[in-house]
Amino acid sequence: MPLPAPVLPPNDVAAAPPDVSIVIPVFNEVDNLRELVERVGAAMAPSGYRFELIAVDDGSTDGSAELLGRLARDHGWLRAVPLARNYGQSSALQAGFDRVRGRYVVTLDADLQNEPLDIPLLLQRLEADPGVDMVSGWRRERQDAALSRRLPSRIANRLISRATRVPLHDYGCALKAYRRHIIDRIRLYGELHRFIPSLARDAGARIAEMPVRHHARTRGQSKYGIDRTFRVILDLVLIVFFMRYRQRPLHAFGGLGLWLATPGVLVLAYLLVLKLGGEDIGGRPLLLAGVMLVLIGAQLIVAGLTGEMLMRVYHEGQGRPQYHVRADGDRPTRDAERGG
Ligand code: UDP
Ligand code: MG
Repeated sequence: MPLPAPVLPPNDVAAAPPDVSIVIPVFNEVDNLRELVERVGAAMAPSGYRFELIAVDDGSTDGSAELLGRLARDHGWLRAVPLARNYGQSSALQAGFDRVRGRYVVTLDADLQNEPLDIPLLLQRLEADPGVDMVSGWRRERQDAALSRRLPSRIANRLISRATRVPLHDYGCALKAYRRHIIDRIRLYGELHRFIPSLARDAGARIAEMPVRHHARTRGQSKYGIDRTFRVILDLVLIVFFMRYRQRPLHAFGGLGLWLATPGVLVLAYLLVLKLGGEDIGGRPLLLAGVMLVLIGAQLIVAGLTGEMLMRVYHEGQGRPQYHVRADGDRPTRDAERGG
């Protein structure tokens, strides 16, 4: 069980590492920050865990970064990480993940829609069940009134669950807790924060879901609108490709290539027979179709072979094996087994 929380000197990151690193991405949330920091502190203090709160300012223009800096002076466990500009939620989370020191990592949003009091409950679940590497929050009573938010997210949850074979009710919930080695194995680019459970599953995590509280946003504005739908669909293609074919791109590209090139070859063979029989084939649309099929098919096979080479360069050149060994007992992950 965790030790009682010692008082850390302000921002002394060299002091004893915490048990829990809480990561919060912040973009223009100045009206929420003070209460957020206080409520996280109040939720964690009685839990007995040593904790740090890593608040990553994602290029806010409303003074959030400055306020975080001031708050960090009053709270030794608060680390403010100001990014140089707005990179997006995924990169802000990754900046936090790159700095975590705890055995457990927790994420939540800065807008107070998540309930900080749920953090110790998620941690208890990890503590109680060694067979679980990650607990994902489920906003069972979601407080976003607009149907334009709830409906797309319902569809997205179904779609992502089926496509990535990681069945969850709520991919969009920011409140999640992880064992550290899972965080060390994944990297978030673009807007992949929505797919963290899929990425974690791909990295070998055993995932549980747990109902958590959810509040309406009372201050500040949501950073996303309905336009994220298309980006989610494209990202889903990316994730499915990565989960299934990253280690065998030739099967994805080359497979499609064979499906196109084979009928192409048959078509051309047929035309060749006609030609040898003395028929004029120059004006036949079928000739164009045959040539196109063979060319495109061959291109796809070459793309697959290039992918195979890139995959080998990635794993062998970087010293990253294509597998992870189970980290029973929270053994810190060696560099060679990070990422991938
Ligand atoms: N966020 C961020 N960078 C961005 C957009 C959002 O760090 O470019 C943060 C934001 O401050 C919040 C979290 O990501 O803490 C989720 O954003 P938001 O609440 O707007 O998303 P929603 O809950 O509406 O999906
Ligand atoms: Mg929100």
